[in-house]
Amino acid sequence: ATALIWFRRDLRVADQPTFLAAGRGARALALFVLDPRLMGPAGEARQWFLYGCLRALDQSLNGRLLVVEGDPAQVVPRIAREAGARAVHVAADFGPYGRARDEAVERALNEQGGELIRTGSPYAVAPGRVRTADGGRYRVFTPFRRAWADHGWRPPAATDAGFLDWIDPAALTVEALPIPSRTPVTANLPEPGEAAARRRWEVFRREHLEDYADGRDRPDRPGTSRLSAYLKFGCVHPRTLLAGMAGSSGSGAHSFRGELAWRDFYADVLDQRPDSAHRNYDRSFDALVTDSGPDADRLFAAWQEGRTGFPVVDAGMRQLLAEGWMHNRVRMITASFLVKDLHLPWWRGARHFMRSLVDGDLASNQHGWQWVAGSGTDAAPYFRVFNPVLQGERFDPDGDYVRTYVPELAGIAGKAVHQPWKLPGGPPRGYPAPVVDHRHERAVALERYEPVRAAR
Ligand code: FAD
Repeated sequence: ATALIWFRRDLRVADQPTFLAAGRGARALALFVLDPRLMGPAGEARQWFLYGCLRALDQSLNGRLLVVEGDPAQVVPRIAREAGARAVHVAADFGPYGRARDEAVERALNEQGGELIRTGSPYAVAPGRVRTADGGRYRVFTPFRRAWADHGWRPPAATDAGFLDWIDPAALTVEALPIPSRTPVTANLPEPGEAAARRRWEVFRREHLEDYADGRDRPDRPGTSRLSAYLKFGCVHPRTLLAGMAGSSGSGAHSFRGELAWRDFYADVLDQRPDSAHRNYDRSFDALVTDSGPDADRLFAAWQEGRTGFPVVDAGMRQLLAEGWMHNRVRMITASFLVKDLHLPWWRGARHFMRSLVDGDLASNQHGWQWVAGSGTDAAPYFRVFNPVLQGERFDPDGDYVRTYVPELAGIAGKAVHQPWKLPGGPPRGYPAPVVDHRHERAVALERYEPVRAAR
């Protein structure tokens, strides 16, 4: 029997449970559907990266990846018929859109006597698997993490490109789409594809894993894995990473496992509460008054462009524009600034991040934002307001991060770069004065949280 392998967020051939489900040596058609509904919110960086990953996957399959465009509920059943495939294999998707899409595809397949077979997921432990003693779901990270580690995960699936007998899509009469090519918006995007993901993981494991527990908080140094875009598109599976650290009991490996647990946790939370993608997870935050109108729009634009006059905030926003990526610590600082200093709604910032990030992921992004805003799970206490100067001085102590991304400040030595308004001649030409007074806005933010506190 012929199988259809429908790739989505698993653009790799190693550790591919769907191949195991199809059975070694089975005749198989490899398919990717470009779904306009998913491409919409993705900006150029993520689209460019996705196309690169598809090209890399196609190469591993000797040019046998069929790429088509359209609504999967129509396209997938049609191609399955065309290829004579009864079984369509996928890794399960747990996002609100992906789940509904898969149910629609499944219904259409069932109507024609076919089936959708879900094997594996983009997570070490799929949403819904980690349960409390009485079968409930976790709403706080630390106990989730403990239960997640106890639950454990399967070893990587031993698959490669030769595991299945790939059909040449040219033999079918479907309108294949050449994989779109696009000039990258920036030269600094990660190299797409599975082989590049492996290389990056090996370098990180060799050079940075040991010091990761401390190194991960320093945006001025290359201390994190930068695997997020690869994980997003499944160029590498988290299980492969966990297996690669098996037996490492050091603090670096412990901390890195914890970050992979956060990724699984947020996917679980989104699965529990699909509405939390767009609404406050903690509904008492609906009582928070946020700003709108021309002044708010002007401040929002300054934030997006990295022209707030707060160097670490501006460096982060410009890193995002330049690389489609921002260091985690700086994601927290820039998000806090938007929500607590500019009093704008978190979802506005989240939408900009989702467009710009090469690793943009609904579960991690929306919940990362809500964690900062205070409206999410494990919320940072809302009354703790990041001071952008102190955060800069603490995590970018020599100012190297700021100087890398804000050329106007490149001539200022050391940590003085975090307070350019204190220089004898004021901020250098071309660099803005602070758009707000942090002390004042902090007080405003605390005042605005009063109705939230009352609603709890
Ligand atoms: P590393 O430090 O090397 O971590 C390894 C992996 O663990 C990451 O690749 C990621 O998959 C996972 N991870 C790490 N931290 C987190 C976290 N806090 N939550 C969930 N997973 C985590 N991550 C995304 O993948 N996509 C997003 O759209 C996203 N948006 C964010 C928005 C905000 C406001 C915040 C505060 C965080 C966001 N994160 C997001 C989490 C985190 O910032 C990134 O995963 C991380 O910076 C990616 O860089 P890295 O691969 O070098 O991370």
